[in-house]
Order: sequence, then C-alpha cells, then structure tokens
Amino acid sequence: MPDPKSNPPTHHSIDILIIGAGLSGLSAAIDLQQAGHNVMLVDKGRGLGGRLAGRRIGEASFDHGAQFMTARAPRFQQTVAEWIEAGVAEEWYSSYPGHQNGHPRYRGVPTMTAIAKHLATDLNILRKVRVVEIAQDNNQWLATLDNGESISAKSMIITSPIPQTLDLLATGNIQIPTDKLARLQRIEYEACIAVMAVLESPSNIPAPGATVIEDSPVAWISDNQQKGVSKIPAVTIHGSGTFSAKYFDADPMTVGQQLIDAALPLLGSSVTQYQVHGWRYSKPTVVDPESCMLLTEGTDLPPLALAGDAFNGPKVEGAVSSGWAAAAVLGGLI
Ligand SMILES: Cc1cc2nc3c(=O)[nH]c(=O)nc-3n(C[C@H](O)[C@H](O)[C@H](O)COP(=O)(O)OP(=O)(O)OC[C@H]3O[C@@H](n4cnc5c(N)ncnc54)[C@H](O)[C@@H]3O)c2cc1C
Repeated sequence: MPDPKSNPPTHHSIDILIIGAGLSGLSAAIDLQQAGHNVMLVDKGRGLGGRLAGRRIGEASFDHGAQFMTARAPRFQQTVAEWIEAGVAEEWYSSYPGHQNGHPRYRGVPTMTAIAKHLATDLNILRKVRVVEIAQDNNQWLATLDNGESISAKSMIITSPIPQTLDLLATGNIQIPTDKLARLQRIEYEACIAVMAVLESPSNIPAPGATVIEDSPVAWISDNQQKGVSKIPAVTIHGSGTFSAKYFDADPMTVGQQLIDAALPLLGSSVTQYQVHGWRYSKPTVVDPESCMLLTEGTDLPPLALAGDAFNGPKVEGAVSSGWAAAAVLGGLI
C-alpha cells in the first residue's frame, strides 16, 4: 500500500466526465471527443460495454447480456454499417421459426463486446474503478473513485441504470428538480437471470440458433456455437422477467438448474458445467420519452446530463442514440 503522504492519489482534471463505458457512454464520448472536448470515461466493470457482456468457461464462449441489435433510425443504420465494415458486426438473422419478422438482427463479431472494444479504441477510459461519490466543487463536478483517485470535470454524463444513478446523486446531496425526479421515478426495469451452460454435444436449437419460448420460465435461448461465438457447444438461457424477479435473490445455481430443466427439450444434450449471472436492471420496461435528461437545466449547477437505454428506447439502439443526444446537449453548453 503506497504511503498517501509521499504518493498522493492521482487527481484528474478534464472537461467532461462520463460515468459508464456501456454503449451510451461510449457513443457520447466519441461525439464529444470529435468535437474537441477532453473526455474521460470511468467504468466499474472488468470488460467494456456494460450490458453487452461476454464470458468464457474453458473453451466455451458466451454472449450473456444483449444478444443482438436492430437498427431503425438512419444514423444508427449507418453506424451499424460502419461496424460491419470494420469487421466487428454482421447480420445474424431476420426471422426464426414461428416468428417471421423482416427486421435484420445484427450481432457482434466474434462476440457482442467486440463492438464496445471497437468504439473504445481512441477513448480515455479508467476501468475497474467505481465512482462512489459525486459532489459540486467550485463550479465543477468532483467524482471520488473507489481506488482513492478523484476527477474534476466541467460537466458530466451519468449512464448507469436510473436507480443506481439516483443513489449516486444522493451521495453528493444533489437536488433534483421535482418534475425531473418524478420522470426518473417512473422508469422501471425487469430483471434477467442468465445461465451460461456448456453442452456435451451440439444443441437441438433450430437454425439460426436462437428462439423465444412463450409461457415458460425461459424467455430466450441461444446457441453460441451456431451463432459463431463459441468453438464448442454452449447455450445462453435467459429467464423470463417474472421468473427472474421471483428468484433473483435465491441460490443462483439452484435457479440456474431450474432454467436448464425448463430448456431441456431444446438442449438435446447434457450440461457439463454452467454459471449464472443476475442482471438486476436488464432492460427498462418503462422508459422516459425524451432521448436524455439535462438534470441541471435552469439551475446554477455545472451541466449534468443523464443518458442510457432508459431514455427514448429500451435497447442497444436506444442506448446509442441517448448517448448521442446527451453529447449534443452538453456540447452546446460548454
Ligand atoms: C440479459 C440482457 C439481454 C438483452 N438483450 C438485448 C437484445 O437482444 N437486444 C438489444 O438491443 N438490447 C438488449 N439488451 C439491452 C441492452 O444491453 C442495453 O439496452 C444496452 O446495452 C444499455 O446500454 P447503456 O449504455 O444504457 O447501459 P450499460 O450497458 O448498463 O452501461 C452502464 C455502465 O455504467 C457502469 N457503471 C454503473 N455505475 C457505475 C459507477 N458508479 N462507477 C463506474 N461505472 C459505473 C456499468 O459498469 C456499465 O458498464 C439486453 C440486456 C440484458 C441485460
């Protein structure tokens, strides 16, 4: 442990601090950096991408957060085309048995997290550190990190799920205007228990390697081998919102086994090992209609915007466009 007197913790001084290197934070950072601002991102996760998450169990690889994305708005379609050009995304499918739907589903290559790594290439990111407190200090934001370091910034974007954002704002006793607080408190998320199971032999899941199951504890199951994510047979099983809420705090391996049992007809093979991850805030079920929120609008506080998939749209595309919207709002103020 370094002696804090001889080695004081690092203090960073920047224009814009972005809390969260998920897709909204990364997308905001790129726009702001391209506009000439000095931007720093901080993320508590080991990997980049937040809910675009991957994991390995031995030779098996899994996408265990977001499985694919759709692209509807022109700028996002153009962005996905650039990701395909860069080799980090490709079309996975546009329909699966029983669900004919023309929207192409795009996946990351080789995994969903490849997109986040690609976006992060030229960005300044502090990883594996959590912002534990934010406060206003001399007309700037001061963020304290769990490794003892601190960051002062002229403005800030927070992209964590809203309940976590509200907890963070409370650490600095930051007053939220009543109308904005009411909007934030309306936002709701569903939980998702994800099981990553290694199989002895290839699964029974029909092409393209993914299906939804109605009226079951299992909402979604995908075959990471067919998808091209895993070299060996490996499936991701997502519990339904109702099932995941009910068992979120139960023993993970017991709950994981229940989901495996419910998925057995589609597995067609025995499971050699499995791991379980609980997403408490997997997807918003009630979103705010605006594309981001300038929390400090009409106040004396330095600019602070909230962004993420809770605004405008509950998925990958919504998160990216919310990041762009927050960048446009802050960029116009500083
Ligand atoms: C199981 C699951 C399945 C999904 N399936 C799909 C799908 O198929 N298609 C689709 O389009 N979307 C899907 N989604 C939703 C999609 O993943 C999200 O909408 C999107 O990734 C959200 O991005 P974001 O930047 O808003 O938030 P996040 O990705 O959650 O990023 C927020 C980041 O903030 C960091 N953070 C939070 N608090 C702090 C702190 N105090 N200090 C430092 N860092 C902090 C977190 O580590 C995280 O990296 C799925 C999500 C889950 C969980």
